[in-house]
Amino acid sequence: MFDVIVVGAGTAGCVAARKLAEEKNKKVLILEKKHHIAGNCYDEKDEHGVLIHVYGPHIFHTGRENVFAYLSRFTDWYAFHHEVVANVHGKQIPVPFNLHTLRAVYGEKKGDALEKKLVSVYGMGTRVPILDLMNHEDEELRMIGKYVYDNIYVYYTMKQWGKKPEEIDPAVTARVPVNISYDNGYFADKYQGVPLHGFTKMFEAMVNHENITVEMGVEAKEVLSVVENQVFYKGQPFAGTVIFTGPIDEFFDCRYGRLPYRTLNFAFEHYEQDDYQGHAVVNYTVDEDYTRITEYKYLTGQKCKGTTISKEYPGAYTGEEGQIPYYAIANEENHALYAKYKARAEEIRDFHLLGRLAEYQYYNIDVMVEKAMVLADKI
Ligand code: UDP
Repeated sequence: MFDVIVVGAGTAGCVAARKLAEEKNKKVLILEKKHHIAGNCYDEKDEHGVLIHVYGPHIFHTGRENVFAYLSRFTDWYAFHHEVVANVHGKQIPVPFNLHTLRAVYGEKKGDALEKKLVSVYGMGTRVPILDLMNHEDEELRMIGKYVYDNIYVYYTMKQWGKKPEEIDPAVTARVPVNISYDNGYFADKYQGVPLHGFTKMFEAMVNHENITVEMGVEAKEVLSVVENQVFYKGQPFAGTVIFTGPIDEFFDCRYGRLPYRTLNFAFEHYEQDDYQGHAVVNYTVDEDYTRITEYKYLTGQKCKGTTISKEYPGAYTGEEGQIPYYAIANEENHALYAKYKARAEEIRDFHLLGRLAEYQYYNIDVMVEKAMVLADKI
């Protein structure tokens, strides 16, 4: 009946399915264990009519023309330009740290002098890793680096990744930038925004094709099995292609051990007031147990009475029922463990791993779309 089985109806699965259905005329079956499509991009109206991102804020941003053009076939866009502020001991400052932040922290006079120094050393429009500043011979530049490390980076990162400061990889610290510019934007990409009517609607339009069948509430392992490197679907040998986008360790019963992930818990709150925090996202970088508060109406552009927010609590993923693996934890040990699952999967005939979970990678939406397009073309 089907030429292709796609496990998982998230970004990776939906894009790959559409490409194969439309361009290769393949009959595609998507198996999704949740009761909705769109994966972690899933959004819906809550009981108060506010459009929320159920699995936390997702903002599309890309410089890739082909990816933007492809998704634009299935949606119009709300051209939302993402700006984030950090709450530092009750004061809101723009992040990533930039020249506005410099003035907010040090005042106009000192900020002015520090700006001149930063511009003369690094040049206007540059992105400087805080590690550069922290190791600089100039005392004032070291001071700025230390400010960012202490007030924006270290506590947030400890919460997010469950680590002590000394366990945080210096390579990660090196990536945290100071932007020598007056741009408050969180992303530098040409295209930024959210689908005008939500991510779910965009993915619904994508899988709405005569060659695609979506079955929800189906745990892949209940219908798929592997015997001697051949996939069986409902007990019958399946001659087609399988694209697997789920957690690969669980598919193999965690036989080599569980792949470690960070999970997130979202506490949603609704307020009968028009505004809660005045921003889409406020990061809590020096206190609180949650990392950030998202106020959805600012992110989706929805005009509505009342407002809904979510507080985001990171934690260790244990595999407990209902918990969601969000972030692969990149380190050598985990990549070595992943390599065993990958090697096992590669033995299976016409079985492809795709996506954050199946590839144990941290992909942005645009990169995921592109990878799915490339795999579909290859198939
Ligand atoms: N980060 C930080 N302070 C911030 C924001 C981010 O230290 O205010 C660090 C932190 O280690 C985090 C990483 O940068 O895990 C990436 O954060 P981002 O918000 O870009 O990623 P997301 O969690 O939205 O995927």
